[in-house]
Amino acid sequence: MSISQELYFKSSQLIPGGVNSPVRAWTAVGGGPLFIARGQGSKIYDVDGKEYIDYVLSWGPLILGHAYKQVVEGIKKQLEKGLSYGAPTEQELILAELIREAMPSMEMVRLVNSGTEAIMTALRIARAYTGRKKILKFEGCYHGHSDSLLARAGSGLATLGIPGCPGVPEEVASLTLTIPYNDLNTLKEIINVHGDDIAAAIVEPVAGNMGVVIPEKEFLPELRRLTQDKGILLIFDEVITGFRFTWGGWQNVVGISPDLTCLGKIIGGGLPIGALGGKRDIMSLLAPLGPVYQAGTLSGNPVATCAGLITLQILRERKDIYTSLADFTGTLCREIEQIFTHRGLAIRINHMGSMFTIFFTEEKVRDFASAARSDVKRYAQFFQEMIRQGIYPPPSQFEAWFTSIAHTADDLEKTIAACRRAVDLI
Ligand SMILES: *Cc1c(COP(=O)(O)O)cnc(C)c1O
Repeated sequence: MSISQELYFKSSQLIPGGVNSPVRAWTAVGGGPLFIARGQGSKIYDVDGKEYIDYVLSWGPLILGHAYKQVVEGIKKQLEKGLSYGAPTEQELILAELIREAMPSMEMVRLVNSGTEAIMTALRIARAYTGRKKILKFEGCYHGHSDSLLARAGSGLATLGIPGCPGVPEEVASLTLTIPYNDLNTLKEIINVHGDDIAAAIVEPVAGNMGVVIPEKEFLPELRRLTQDKGILLIFDEVITGFRFTWGGWQNVVGISPDLTCLGKIIGGGLPIGALGGKRDIMSLLAPLGPVYQAGTLSGNPVATCAGLITLQILRERKDIYTSLADFTGTLCREIEQIFTHRGLAIRINHMGSMFTIFFTEEKVRDFASAARSDVKRYAQFFQEMIRQGIYPPPSQFEAWFTSIAHTADDLEKTIAACRRAVDLI
């Protein structure tokens, strides 16, 4: 038995499923997770001493790779000065200023501890601002694990939410409307019928949590137009997309100004953080300025803020990072596609900048339904072969692969070679 297996066995007795966040358990691919001892650059090392080229990167935050020197050194200095004060610091101001500079739609910013928390608060503000109760979301988008957002769509046409998760009261779930991503007809219909009751529409501007799904050209502009017409607040959940494709978010790429934006992942450089921001009159509702309550013992934590600040400063100084990340990732995707095509195996790669998903399906993937028709068993086999060869892809068909500036030409070659062997074996 490997050390990972032993630790997984012991953890499973104490921690539900042996993990502190469900996908880490590798349920979708089988075999039980690897326990990680350390990470450096593009690599992670498991407790049995094996090295892996990492394409999960802590599910998105590590755009600079593991243990980036400047970030680690910065945090060390901060540690000497204390871990938390529960009082404001200059660093929080500087981080908020950087965020606003990058995304001018975020006229006011509040720092929290996770993406989930940012989104939960954004919904509360939206409901308070509009005096409406309903929330519109898109099937396959993930917005954290708060009650309102674990509601799932009924089948077919947009229906009132039914609880997608035991423990979420029907009354709460019924306030969430879920419709397919990239589906303008249904969007128009639902806004026609329910528009006056909808406080906010929330969307991942590039979806990353059903695997990568790219918004079609008219989807986001129309969503902006339709929500604005009905007085519905538009929330961009840029927890993944924030600082992933450019200095700023997807809103900068498409030139759309959401009313509220939620961030997380990259802005914490690998430490727990989240942020929400938006128009001044909306954000002014937050306590203590306004009546909408939100708080956090560790919000704006100096160590997390420090890691995020250094990460964003590096991304701002070296904007060329994004071009090289996209080039690297583009090459990787093209090579992988060729390998599969050569073998006559049908796949669809959805790629944007430094993230992509290899869908094991023939059809174009443009929403949750088409993503869900992928051959997940085949993906699991592919995953296991890649792991055997020291490549660490996401342990589910429906997650994004991420690349970092630490990934090298040598990593690229090794990944392609491993993919060629894996494809021969599945
Ligand atoms: C990861 C993620 C979240 C949740 O963030 P946590 O920090 O895990 O709470 C929310 N939305 C999107 C799009 C995410 O990818």
